[in-house]
Amino acid sequence: MLRTYVLDASAFIYGVQVSGTIYTVPEVTRELRSSEAEVALQEFLKEGLKIEPPVKKDVALVTEKAKSTGDYLRLSQADIDLLAKALEVSGTLVTDDYSIQNVATRLGIETQQIQQARIRRVLKWRRRCVGCGRLYESETICPVCGSDVKLKPITR
Ligand SMILES: [Zn+2]
Repeated sequence: MLRTYVLDASAFIYGVQVSGTIYTVPEVTRELRSSEAEVALQEFLKEGLKIEPPVKKDVALVTEKAKSTGDYLRLSQADIDLLAKALEVSGTLVTDDYSIQNVATRLGIETQQIQQARIRRVLKWRRRCVGCGRLYESETICPVCGSDVKLKPITR
């Protein structure tokens, strides 16, 4: 079964590698606008990223829970929206933010940290064959070796 992930802004900035159904919320895309991570966002969109606002009912639930844990003042609107979306789609929330993780746990939302070791400044995203390592512009299957071509961040 394909997993469902909900990505916060840092997941785009640091170039997390996940496969499955991927969501984020419009507030996050606003945070990413005119940053290098917007390139990553565009690449995720080509891969089928869904950008959807959360439903009001879940936003209310998250807000209530965040107030009860004392995390509310540390959460941005984007954070609240991400939590609500993760709740709605039963997705794993990918974030390094402690307050988001704390509220997520209380709501029964699974979280995944962006591995510190993977954190690099992303310069550019390219499609790279997992088999032979050749770089491509738009292929999803390598015409040379037949392996999958996956999106990879090219780092400084
Ligand atoms: Zn190949």
